[in-house]
Amino acid sequence: MRLILLGPPGAGKGTQAKRLMDAHGIQQLSTGDMLRAAVKAETPIGLKAKDIMVRGDLVPDAVVNQIVSERIADPDCSNGFILDGFPRTVAQAEALEGILQERGLDLDAVVELQVDEDALADRVEKRRAESGDAVRADDTVEALRHRLKVYREQTAPLIAHYRETGKLRSVDGMQDIDKVAGEIASILGGGDQKLRATG
Ligand code: AMP
Repeated sequence: MRLILLGPPGAGKGTQAKRLMDAHGIQQLSTGDMLRAAVKAETPIGLKAKDIMVRGDLVPDAVVNQIVSERIADPDCSNGFILDGFPRTVAQAEALEGILQERGLDLDAVVELQVDEDALADRVEKRRAESGDAVRADDTVEALRHRLKVYREQTAPLIAHYRETGKLRSVDGMQDIDKVAGEIASILGGGDQKLRATG
């Protein structure tokens, strides 16, 4: 199964991706996590991405396309994957189409988590409070506002893009986590007992 989770920062993509990963035995591919690991390890990509990420801007398409292209080729992705935070621009979506086509693969669904943007700042504040010292450099209300603007301008056009392909499925992401997971499970065909049980 190959999925994209689409939604603004703080919509719960990472949480839902982890559940899907456990339920379906597929990999969560979070470009944000991969970039944060590169920043931590001070790789050339990490050094280039660091300041961009702190500002809440997007890392160049070519950089993330390359990361995803390489990661999808790993043997542990042969069963499928959930793209969390990629694609974020129409150019990335087009690159992804090329990457998948080359391998004879297709997407099963693009799941959009719809959220009330005003409530997202509260979620970020909560995440900050709960994570204590391990807070993300871009997890401030100011950076979130900028990331939301970037989302609206550069990523939201993907909703129309994937609607045209007939792959878009939308879920109310403001519901509690189990309810959202349950709806995603039914979208994906209802064969998922674990998600149903918690949904
Ligand atoms: P995330 O954890 O998905 O919120 O990503 C954190 C940050 O990493 C973003 O604000 C961007 O700076 C960068 N990033 C993650 N994924 C992408 C992507 N697909 N394209 C460009 N930048 C990205």
